[in-house]
Amino acid sequence: KELSSAEVRSLFLRFFESKGHKIEPSQSLIPKDDPTLLWINSGVATLKKYFDGSVVPDNHRITNAQKSIRTNDIENVGHTARHHTLFEMMGNFSIGDYFKEDAIPWAWELLTSSEWFGMDKDKLYVTVYPNDDEAKDIWLNKVGLPKDHLYEEPDNFWDIGEGPSGPDSEIFYDRGAEFNDADESENYPGGENERYLEIWNLVFSQYNHLPGLTDNKDYPELPTKNIDTGMGLERVVSVFQHAKTNFETDLFLPLIHKTEEISGQYKYDEDDTKDISFKVIADHIRAVTFAIGDGALPSNEGRGYIIRRLLRRAVLHGRKLGISQVFLKDLVPVVGDIMASYYPEIAENKVYIASIVEAEEVRFNKTLSDGLSLLDEVIAAAKADNGVIDGDVAFKLYDTYGFPYELTDEYATDEGLVVDREGFDIQMKAQQDRARSARSNKASMGVQNELLTSLKTESTYVGWSELTVNSTDLA
Ligand code: ATP
Ligand code: MG
Ligand code: MG
Ligand code: MG
Repeated sequence: KELSSAEVRSLFLRFFESKGHKIEPSQSLIPKDDPTLLWINSGVATLKKYFDGSVVPDNHRITNAQKSIRTNDIENVGHTARHHTLFEMMGNFSIGDYFKEDAIPWAWELLTSSEWFGMDKDKLYVTVYPNDDEAKDIWLNKVGLPKDHLYEEPDNFWDIGEGPSGPDSEIFYDRGAEFNDADESENYPGGENERYLEIWNLVFSQYNHLPGLTDNKDYPELPTKNIDTGMGLERVVSVFQHAKTNFETDLFLPLIHKTEEISGQYKYDEDDTKDISFKVIADHIRAVTFAIGDGALPSNEGRGYIIRRLLRRAVLHGRKLGISQVFLKDLVPVVGDIMASYYPEIAENKVYIASIVEAEEVRFNKTLSDGLSLLDEVIAAAKADNGVIDGDVAFKLYDTYGFPYELTDEYATDEGLVVDREGFDIQMKAQQDRARSARSNKASMGVQNELLTSLKTESTYVGWSELTVNSTDLA
């Protein structure tokens, strides 16, 4: 079967609608009333209010396709076939309604029935938590999955501390031996390989991780059990469009083609290193476009810093494709076209979004060439010396030339060098202290210019690898 991304999304939602689920629209990427989360990072993240009982849904069966951002995957983008910063997670949810005995056969029906996805059963593999005899029994005896397609995986337990927790079952699509990893021991469903593609995670939240219990997974059963699943749209689409990676699909190719046109120099699929740059640009512009569309803005803190980092990273990859002019703004309308059927608001707001992108590009371009020459110099010096880039230099690159710390760090890592993080943090802290005392001096002098102080908001440094931050870190 060959299906477009819009068809895949709509088949998923219609399937679960036919099983009594209510379709909920994709919510904003910016979490509502949830200071623990920087971005919506999964389908269930917008439905927490139902799962924790604070809101009772009118239908206990829900399905959605939810835009999600995962900053922990930034550095995977372009290097694996399957990771994005922004992706869509499609899911079906039971709030104390049906459980495993329905969720598992329905997943199988959607994937394999010729009326729906019609995937080849022989290509599907499943992992279960070793102690989850119920799930094993349903897969083997109710669904009829062959025994050699079922793997036990001790990591398949979803537990984020206090609250609902439980085993999960993941579904993999075998893309064929040509995608085997060089390390043969990794070539099994759940291993580090590009062959068995994880397409769907079914989480069975059946236990209550009570306060004070250790992580021994020996928790009491919940009075009402829930289902929470997540399927990556881009990955499933790559299967239907026989794509080598998620990028050779209708979700990304128009962006790649537009970038080829802007570059005028390089073509996609001719050189592996250049391909990474094409992929990073296509990925990051989607994330930035959606994030700005949802009201976030580039800045030095929290969500804004992530937008800034993604944009600047994309600009640097543009340089690698010979693009030195402002160009990311021209990709915004392409994102709007690709996503028009489910997210018409992007095309509607493309002028505004492109103007924010452009302003940020112009700002970075001003200092980029000087920053890059400084970086080249210090890389050469560090190579000749001890292999370490000074924290002071990393701070200067950040403060004067607009290089987010992580960009400098990535460049250094590519060259086999390390950056003195501690030295960078010391400089950052000193700058914040200076800003703070400047503000309090002003206050003590009786200066009450609110506009001025609000323009000079403190720049708080927020780590990247963190999916969650303290509420005080949020802008
Ligand atoms: P992986 O092991 O491939 O990193 P995961 O186990 O971290 O995936 P889950 O948290 O189980 O992913 O999320 C549910 C589904 O969402 C995955 O099965 C996958 O289809 C999709 N998904 C997760 N992370 C990404 C991502 N960064 N980009 C695209 N799709 C993703
Ligand atoms: Mg992951
Ligand atoms: Mg996984
Ligand atoms: Mg998973």
